[in-house]
Amino acid sequence: MKVPKARKCRICKKRFKPLTLYEWWCCEKHRDELATKLAAEAKQKRIQQQEKNRKKEAQQERQSLKVRKLALKPDNYFKKQAQDAFNQFIRLRDHGQPCISCGETNPPDLHGGQWDCGHFKTVGGFPELRFVEKNAYRQCKSCNAGSAKHGAKAATVAQRYEQELVLRFGQDLVDWLNGPHEMTHYRRDDFIRIRDEYRAKCRELTKKMEQSL
Ligand SMILES: [Zn+2]
Ligand SMILES: [Zn+2]
Repeated sequence: MKVPKARKCRICKKRFKPLTLYEWWCCEKHRDELATKLAAEAKQKRIQQQEKNRKKEAQQERQSLKVRKLALKPDNYFKKQAQDAFNQFIRLRDHGQPCISCGETNPPDLHGGQWDCGHFKTVGGFPELRFVEKNAYRQCKSCNAGSAKHGAKAATVAQRYEQELVLRFGQDLVDWLNGPHEMTHYRRDDFIRIRDEYRAKCRELTKKMEQSL
């Protein structure tokens, strides 16, 4: 490379004639100024990079802490997350439908809400149907609380649930639900997969509902 005839001083921007290819200053004073300026810039850059690295490390630390914390969680933790997501989906799917058992469309607000996801074949008695959509419908909190217990109310709720299923979907569905069914053997990964699947379905349904408003 040839030394150019003239170039602009990096400090004062005046044109000067450099003696070497690497000379970017018009005078000694501006050489020193430029050296100081470049050193300050380099330092600033180093600080920024250090800051960036620190943030990245902190982020990685948080992430690995999260992973370790999740690894310590029992399977039941993910089972509950999966069930919550599934139940939420059922409530969204049946939005606008009356209670499957009592037909109520505006039930009283009991302990933080009006609606539950009620399983026809209970989660406790028939765990193999806990994530079967055909086995779960929007149910008012009062009926859902009743069906969890034994006694007269539970029997009535279950009976009316069954009658409503026959009306809405036919006897075949009820016969199928009454089973027998193959036992499922869900593991941790299954719960996580089901949870994510139903969370996605909930997001999709919510979006659709918002769009149709
Ligand atoms: Zn200069
Ligand atoms: Zn009800």
